[in-house]
Amino acid sequence: MQEEKILVLGGGLAGCVLAHELQKYNSKVYLADDFFEKSSSRVAAGIFNPILAGHKRVTWRDSDFFDFFPLYYKSLEQKMKTNFFHPMPMLHFLDSIEDQNEWDALQTGKPISNWFSIFNEKISSQFNAQFGAVKIHGTGWLDTRLFVQETHAYFKAHHKFIAHKIPQNEIKVKQNGYEVMSEFYDKIVLCTGEMEHKDGFFTYLPFKPVKGEILDIEFKGSLDPIIYHKKVFLLPIQNQMARVGSTYIWDKLDYEAEPTSIDFLNEKLSDFFKLPYTIKHVHASLRPATNDRRPYLGEHPSYKNLYIFNGMGSKGVSMVPYWAKQLGEFIFQEKPLDKDAWIGRVRG
Ligand SMILES: Cc1cc2nc3c(=O)[nH]c(=O)nc-3n(C[C@H](O)[C@H](O)[C@H](O)COP(=O)(O)OP(=O)(O)OC[C@H]3O[C@@H](n4cnc5c(N)ncnc54)[C@H](O)[C@@H]3O)c2cc1C
Repeated sequence: MQEEKILVLGGGLAGCVLAHELQKYNSKVYLADDFFEKSSSRVAAGIFNPILAGHKRVTWRDSDFFDFFPLYYKSLEQKMKTNFFHPMPMLHFLDSIEDQNEWDALQTGKPISNWFSIFNEKISSQFNAQFGAVKIHGTGWLDTRLFVQETHAYFKAHHKFIAHKIPQNEIKVKQNGYEVMSEFYDKIVLCTGEMEHKDGFFTYLPFKPVKGEILDIEFKGSLDPIIYHKKVFLLPIQNQMARVGSTYIWDKLDYEAEPTSIDFLNEKLSDFFKLPYTIKHVHASLRPATNDRRPYLGEHPSYKNLYIFNGMGSKGVSMVPYWAKQLGEFIFQEKPLDKDAWIGRVRG
């Protein structure tokens, strides 16, 4: 029997991880991307963190995701012979005696206690940290831009990459499959991020995109490889460069940074960071978030073999590998999808 051809449309973080995952079942996986410079994956800081420090609680499904994705990304590093996964501790600065007491009380008996410890070492004089800090474990960052770039190069080297915008109204529904740019595919998975709610087979799904902004700064001095956090994060990237973010904006849904957001990020950074710095770039993009803040996975209610993999919101790095594995098992082994992520929770 001839092997099926599968098209993964959209080569951001979600499409790239899924394309690698589907290759475990099928060698004819094609990846298409239009290189949208302001896509979420090209702008993201890529931080993974099992704690919502401001709320003092763990993130949704912390153990499911955090037990899974580190080895997953490491195996992709080996597959593509590149280094894009960077585990790195995070220091969350505290802002009052009450804050200290509350973190102290969380040290025993609560799920969050697995993920942090009170930081008892001396904090560098580069920071205002009069109330101390907690050290969060399991944190780090994925260089999402590099990961996407390397995955495109990998599929290109195997003659399985389509460098094109493919508007979904150009996907022709055929008997037992789909025609795209004169090629026949047995299956298509749509991974177009926040574009899906504007131009897609799945526009009926309630997306709720969120704009986010990030600064690239150059600072004078040197920083340890630690992510620092207090209302905003400071992520040292290389030499004297760092990223600072990020914002959440629900009303002005474009790809332009708001002047007020730059002020906000500057103000929050200056609250704890004492080294002089200059802003080199400001990035803005839209996170592909959903109404109920859960991902969208599944097969189209009317079109067979047409799937969606989307809705990764602000936690794409930690969620995507876990859900990519599930979608692969659903497509090739007919295993049911987790009800929290299955699109069947929304009426078509
Ligand atoms: C400011 C900001 C900071 C963030 N920080 C973090 C963070 O620290 N940690 C974290 O986990 N997540 C973070 N995120 C969220 C993260 O970026 C997303 O969860 C993730 O990147 C979504 O990936 P995606 O592939 O679904 O979407 P996208 O990255 O949008 O990818 C979709 C891709 O599809 C392509 N495409 C769309 N339509 C077509 C078409 N018709 N034809 C061809 N190609 C098409 C686009 O060019 C794009 O490459 C952040 C997001 C923002 C905006």
